[in-house]
Amino acid sequence: MSQRLSRVSDVFIIGGGINGCGIARDAAGRGLSVALAEMNDIASATSSSSTKLFHGGLRYLEYFEFRLVREALVEREVLLRAMPHIAWPMRFVLPYHKDMRFESDTPTSRLLSVVMPWMKGRRPAWLIRLGLFLYDTLGGRKILPGTRTLDLRNSPEGAPLQPQFAKAYEYSDCWVEDSRLVSLNARDAAMRGAQIMTRTKVVSAQREDDLWRVETEDTETGSTKVHYARMLVNAGGPWVGDIIQTKLRSNSSDGVRLVRGSHIVTRKLFDHDKCYFFQGTDGRIIFAIPYETDFTLIGTTDAEHEDPSKAPECTPEERDYLLNFASQYFAKPVTKEQVVWSYSGVRPLYDDGASSATAATRDYTLKVDKAGGAPLLNIFGGKITTYRRLAEAAMDKITAELSVAKGNWTAGVTLPGGDFPVDGVSELVAELRRNYPFLTNAWALRLVRGYGTDVARILEGATGAEDLGRDFGATLTEAEVLWLMEHEFAKRAEDVVWRRSKLGLRLSKDEIAALDAWMATQREHMRQAAE
Ligand SMILES: Cc1cc2nc3c(=O)[nH]c(=O)nc-3n(C[C@H](O)[C@H](O)[C@H](O)COP(=O)(O)OP(=O)(O)OC[C@H]3O[C@@H](n4cnc5c(N)ncnc54)[C@H](O)[C@@H]3O)c2cc1C
Repeated sequence: MSQRLSRVSDVFIIGGGINGCGIARDAAGRGLSVALAEMNDIASATSSSSTKLFHGGLRYLEYFEFRLVREALVEREVLLRAMPHIAWPMRFVLPYHKDMRFESDTPTSRLLSVVMPWMKGRRPAWLIRLGLFLYDTLGGRKILPGTRTLDLRNSPEGAPLQPQFAKAYEYSDCWVEDSRLVSLNARDAAMRGAQIMTRTKVVSAQREDDLWRVETEDTETGSTKVHYARMLVNAGGPWVGDIIQTKLRSNSSDGVRLVRGSHIVTRKLFDHDKCYFFQGTDGRIIFAIPYETDFTLIGTTDAEHEDPSKAPECTPEERDYLLNFASQYFAKPVTKEQVVWSYSGVRPLYDDGASSATAATRDYTLKVDKAGGAPLLNIFGGKITTYRRLAEAAMDKITAELSVAKGNWTAGVTLPGGDFPVDGVSELVAELRRNYPFLTNAWALRLVRGYGTDVARILEGATGAEDLGRDFGATLTEAEVLWLMEHEFAKRAEDVVWRRSKLGLRLSKDEIAALDAWMATQREHMRQAAE
């Protein structure tokens, strides 16, 4: 087995989820030399399995998590401006009924049980309105509209619901394509000089005087490599504890709590573009979200997950829980026959000793460990929504250790392809169709939503669909796949159809297999060309 040495970098990051890639981008932009190792594909774990919302987290107000909610609310519009292609405003419809209950062990529940014991866990309408007022005002809004009340009896939003739901509140949050967010952060980091290594597992790391000696293994060839770095960042998500214990052999007492969340995807259940926020009799909430034009996304669950090495899956019980939950609201019951896909992810939450999985904090915690030499930064928790702020907080720690002067820079700097106005998607689609008349509207929209202004580079010079090379189905062409391989670290079909896009919902198994075979050949050509 070969073992090669590499140069010394300032920062070595373990984990190519949103936190690792967000930190890599921020650090590279400050002039630090950065290496990042991801054992699978970019965003292959939690960061492609979220509910895909840039949100303040309305329900966290129940826990008085005002810092987290405020930071996330403010951040929504910063992020929207930086990536108008992959994120957009969304309206949320919260049907109100008087028996609505929230979780029973929140500080709000405890307070209400003292001051209004007759409510027995129910939430009065004024309290929901107060929560939404706070939500509207805590973070300031310029782009997103505020809350309004809806009469469900006479509105398209009420049409798919059972008739007993007469009133709803409608408020704003945002949608984001989570795995594309990670991939674009990685791409931006690489354009700023970071070395992004996918399918590269960190097998051990130890301090050697003032440096970290990190050993990685190529998970496809088995070859190993040694890297040196001045600082190590453990952004292993669900594996953060495993890395501390088995790769770094540290006896840190910080723990991570693994909470699985599953989603199901059904054929489209309603015709408008708003999302539903449903509250269950168990005090939990779920969302039903318009998804990929023809589908509805429903989630999520909260279940303890013991072992990060056990791949999370939506169990039949979780699927039935989500189906029953949604069927308490929709006029037509949602059945398992309508489910076309499901996915599941594990939240790597900081273990704050909370009693239930639902109650465990969603805030992030950063811990620097300098036990005898080069510094280590362990990342616990966090949200997709707060990834950029988490990266800034991580950089505060990193720059203090490495004596770097350059300050925060990512607010206001767009991600690749995002250099156009927040409401500019239709204009970009129209322009694209003028320049490339062979594109259908759905195809042009998909490309703009994926790549923003970079689309022109993917389609450059094409006068007809045949100029884009092989057609893999569902408008996926050779030109797009090559772009993803050359600029976004895609190696296999699953990277392309489940993380760089969601075309897996539309392509057949045979089409995906054909794409995989083509990509394998292409990779071999690229490898030979690089030698
Ligand atoms: C069901 C669910 C719904 C959610 N919904 C939302 C939402 O709507 N909005 C929101 O803001 N947040 C949401 N979140 C939270 C958000 O998804 C996570 O906080 C975030 O994705 C965590 O990112 P991460 O980078 O820490 O972890 P990950 O994305 O898991 O990345 C860690 C990476 O480290 C890699 N790794 C581990 N060990 C090694 C090793 N030894 N060598 C190399 N690589 C290694 C893994 O392969 C993995 O890719 C949700 C989470 C879940 C589970």
